[in-house]
Amino acid sequence: MTDAKEVPEADLPTTDEGWRERLDPLQFEVARRGGTERAFSGIYWDTKDAGTYRCIGCGAALFASDTKFDSGTGWPSFWEPLEDDRVKLISDRSHGMVRTEVRCARCDSHLGHVFNDGPRPSGLRYCMNSASLDLDRDEAGDEAQDRT
Ligand SMILES: [Zn+2]
Repeated sequence: MTDAKEVPEADLPTTDEGWRERLDPLQFEVARRGGTERAFSGIYWDTKDAGTYRCIGCGAALFASDTKFDSGTGWPSFWEPLEDDRVKLISDRSHGMVRTEVRCARCDSHLGHVFNDGPRPSGLRYCMNSASLDLDRDEAGDEAQDRT
């Protein structure tokens, strides 16, 4: 599948300096340093617009807006990724907890964590940072109408 909005592999930074140039300071801290934005501070925690959430690092499509739910946590939360192989899961034992870290499978950017207390059907809660995501909003309904 070709995806024009993905940054070509060859253009992805390979050094911290390269990432710093590409990302703003908060995005860099979260995506490349495993940081966490403050709850209710990000740009997407309350967003309900239709579209595809892409990786801030490489543009890979990660989550669909129709799997986003209001978790009440102050972070954008999804019950499943667009496809399982878009993300990779890593055991994270930092801060005295055992959690499962979620990273972009394509560029290794930190996205957030996944927990087992999500809604049906998956029972999962992908608790993401707005700073790691870029919402690619759907065009205002044109596409859906064309198909009818
Ligand atoms: Zn990525």
